[in-house]
Amino acid sequence: MPHRRHRILLIPYPVQGHINPTFQFAKRLIALGAHVTLSTTIYMHNRITNKPTLPNLSYLPFSDGYDDVGYKGNGNDVTYSLYAAEFNRRGSEFVTNLILWNSQQGTPFTCLVHSILLTWAAKVARELHLPTALLWIQPATVFDIIYHYFHGHSELIKNPECSIALPGLSLLLSQRDLPSFLLESDLSAYSNYNSLMLTFFEEQIKDLDVEKNPTTILVNSFEALEPEALRSVEKLNMISIGPLVPSAFLDVKEPTKYNSFGGQSQTHIFQPSNDCVEWLDSKKEMSVIYISFGSLIVLSKVQMEEIARALLDCGFSFLWVIKEKEELLSYREELEKKGKIVKWCSQVEVLSHSSLGCFLTHCGWNSSLESLVSGVPMVAFPRRMDQMTNAKLIEDVWKIGVRVDYKVDEYGIVRGDEIKKCLEVVMGSGEKGEELRRNAIEWKNLAREAVKEYGSSHKNLRGFLDDTIARS
Ligand code: UDP
Repeated sequence: MPHRRHRILLIPYPVQGHINPTFQFAKRLIALGAHVTLSTTIYMHNRITNKPTLPNLSYLPFSDGYDDVGYKGNGNDVTYSLYAAEFNRRGSEFVTNLILWNSQQGTPFTCLVHSILLTWAAKVARELHLPTALLWIQPATVFDIIYHYFHGHSELIKNPECSIALPGLSLLLSQRDLPSFLLESDLSAYSNYNSLMLTFFEEQIKDLDVEKNPTTILVNSFEALEPEALRSVEKLNMISIGPLVPSAFLDVKEPTKYNSFGGQSQTHIFQPSNDCVEWLDSKKEMSVIYISFGSLIVLSKVQMEEIARALLDCGFSFLWVIKEKEELLSYREELEKKGKIVKWCSQVEVLSHSSLGCFLTHCGWNSSLESLVSGVPMVAFPRRMDQMTNAKLIEDVWKIGVRVDYKVDEYGIVRGDEIKKCLEVVMGSGEKGEELRRNAIEWKNLAREAVKEYGSSHKNLRGFLDDTIARS
């Protein structure tokens, strides 16, 4: 039965990694008959290209005070605290008015779904008695780790000597597998950002408890991928609804009326190069390495040169995303003879191309899932945040990649020889490479099953909508 009465207010944190899965989530809700209002900052709204124009999807952007230029700080100084305060103040006012106005019009929202770091949005909704749900755009395992950190396990997590066993998780972790913002020894220089992040997480995660606060946590993952982590904390109402990847890349049929509205494509805040697919068409099957570090990580000049050396030495063809802020002066000419360098690409299209053999990735959760649903094995090259845990899962649990190693005394620089060694394992015809490719295909199939009509994620999302209607 279609859920016609649902009116969901959806608010993502305004960065690419939150925007992409949120748009995919909106489309899934709409396909189940819900009406979705998607609200982000005016600056971000104007930057997103490929926004779908779907029936039952409204956009209502709001001002964070930075409409024309956006927040340009590095997230690690007082400017971010100022920005966060302004975003919070203006956002709260906007959401309050929007919820009240919709009720007055006789079309009240049935639920607010927001991504993490938007504590203010959840607070406003609770004050107005509107049910809320958290759209968790990282793996369930990461949520569990952070949850335990705030529930009596911070000391254990901080001890560098022990391997870390957390309640309900059989996976043993070491320090290098933890989300970096939990560690005092964070490799990056993002200490101010980290402490703000922890405050946001603490505010939002500490009081989640099915009895006291029945917030549903909608996880961008799927049952088969994290069966244990999704249920390891009994007090949490966690359900998997992913992978939130454009349906065209999952072989999921959406009503054809959506296709002509751009309903199947990926959203972008940077302009993608439009000749990647043509270039990939000229390459042999599984012969190309794709390299990208997502939208936020900016690699140092030294690290860029080490990657360049590895690519030149290992002899495979490659497509490398070098963002505007990244600098690579040496080796550029030689590299362009062997491969292709772009500033941004349509990543899901690239990953689903048959010429792809390996993804050298920073292990952002969207990138990891996009690689997984495309059956592409990875070289895991995590830098910060949840990427560290994602790399552990990729290498040791799902066994679809190998992780680069580095000496801590070299400030996290991964040397060219190590990168080359990992690329050769994944691209090579040895036993390990074969095993990774086999596993990657199995996970690809399981991911696609999850979002089919009788798959676990599809059923979970239906169940969520039924519960919300009952509560609203
Ligand atoms: N992406 C893209 N083109 C690129 C690089 C990245 O479309 O050249 C997309 C990618 O498909 C993913 C998102 O940007 O959906 C990055 O999200 P992720 O969680 O992997 O990393 P973050 O940017 O949050 O670090």
